[in-house]
Amino acid sequence: MPDQDYSGILIYAQLTRENYIHTVFYELLDKAKMLSEKLNGVDVNAVIFTNPKKIEGLEESFKNMGVNKVYYYDDKRLKEYSTIYYSKLIVDLVGQVKPEILLIGATNQGRDLAPRVSGALHTGLTADCVDLDINENGKLAATRPTFGGELMATILCKNYPQMATVRPNVFKVGSIDDYVNTEFVPLEVNLDGVANNVEIIDFKKTIETEINNLDNAQIIVAGGMGLKNEQGFRLLKDFADSIGGEIAASRPAVEAGLASKSVQIGQTGKTVRPKLYIACGISGAIQHTVGMENSERIIAINKDPDAQIFEIADVGIVGDYFEIIPKFLQG
Ligand SMILES: Cc1cc2nc3c(=O)[nH]c(=O)nc-3n(C[C@H](O)[C@H](O)[C@H](O)COP(=O)(O)OP(=O)(O)OC[C@H]3O[C@@H](n4cnc5c(N)ncnc54)[C@H](O)[C@@H]3O)c2cc1C
Repeated sequence: MPDQDYSGILIYAQLTRENYIHTVFYELLDKAKMLSEKLNGVDVNAVIFTNPKKIEGLEESFKNMGVNKVYYYDDKRLKEYSTIYYSKLIVDLVGQVKPEILLIGATNQGRDLAPRVSGALHTGLTADCVDLDINENGKLAATRPTFGGELMATILCKNYPQMATVRPNVFKVGSIDDYVNTEFVPLEVNLDGVANNVEIIDFKKTIETEINNLDNAQIIVAGGMGLKNEQGFRLLKDFADSIGGEIAASRPAVEAGLASKSVQIGQTGKTVRPKLYIACGISGAIQHTVGMENSERIIAINKDPDAQIFEIADVGIVGDYFEIIPKFLQG
C-alpha cells in the first residue's frame, strides 16, 4: 500500500551543456501528468542544477507546463555534472520533500545519476522503462523489456520513492499547455564533507556527436546485416544524403564494424521516433524494433518476404537492397 509520508512526483530536469533543458524532461513531464491524474492530482515537481545560468533565464522553459514547483540548486561547484555532488543533493531534496515517484531521463548523465541516488536512498530503480502507469493499489507500475527483450516485465517497487528511468524518445512530448503558477524554490547547497574526486579539465566534442543527430532526425535510414559490408554502408550513406536522412544500424552491423555504436538502434542502443524510418536489410528482431517501432512511418527493404520487419512496416519492399538502392539513386 502507498506510504502516506510520500506524495507527488519529482522529475530531474537535466540542463545540457548548451544550457537548455533536455527534451527527455518534457517527455517525462507529459507522462507524469498522466500518472498524477491517476493519483488524484498530486503535485508534479522538478529539480534542476542551474549554475552558471541563473534560474531566471530558465523560467520560460517551465511556462504553462503544469509544473507545481521547480526546486533549484545554484552553486559554482555544480557548473559541471558531478556524480557525487548531484546525487548527494538529490538525496537531500528527497529527504525534504518525500516524493512518491522520482523520474530521471536515461541519458548518459541520468544513467550515472539514478543508480547512485537509488543506492543511497535504499530504494528500487527500474531502468530503461518503456511504459509507466499506476496500478490499482496506487503504486508505480514500471514496464521494461526482460529476458533479452523477449518479454515485457512490469515491476513494482516496495520502497519510496519509486524510481524509474526512461530513455529519450520513448515517450512523446504532448502539447502540454497547462497553466499553473509555478513556484521556483531555491535550495541550500550543503556539500560539507563531500569530496569530489573528479576534476573536469576539458570537454571535447567528437566528430561523431557533432554529425549524429538521430534524436532529432526526421528521416532515418538504417542498415542491418543484409548490407553485408562497407560498400553496403557507403551506399546507405549516399541514400541517406540524397533524401536528407541520418544513418543508423542494427547491433550486428555495429559489432561487425560497419557503423559506429552511437548509431545503434534498439534495446541496447538508441530509441528513435522519426517521421520516416527506412530499414534496409534488417530482419526485425524485437531487440531492434523496440528502438524504432514508434516511428511515424516505416519502410522496410528486405529480400525475405517472411522477414519479421514487414509486420510493423507501413510499406514493405521485397527485393535486393543492392539492386533497389542504386536504381533509386540513379533516379
Ligand atoms: C540482449 C540483447 C540485446 C540486443 N540488442 C540489440 C539492439 O539494441 N539492436 C539490434 O539491432 N539488435 C540487438 N540485438 C540483436 C537482435 O536480436 C538481432 O540479432 C539483430 O537485430 C539482427 O540484426 P540484423 O537484422 O541486422 O541481422 P540479421 O538478423 O542477420 O538480418 C539480416 C536481414 O537482411 C536481409 N537481407 C540479406 N541480404 C539482403 C539483401 N541483399 N537485400 C535486402 N535484404 C537482405 C535478410 O533477409 C535478413 O532479414 C540484441 C540481442 C540481445 C540478445
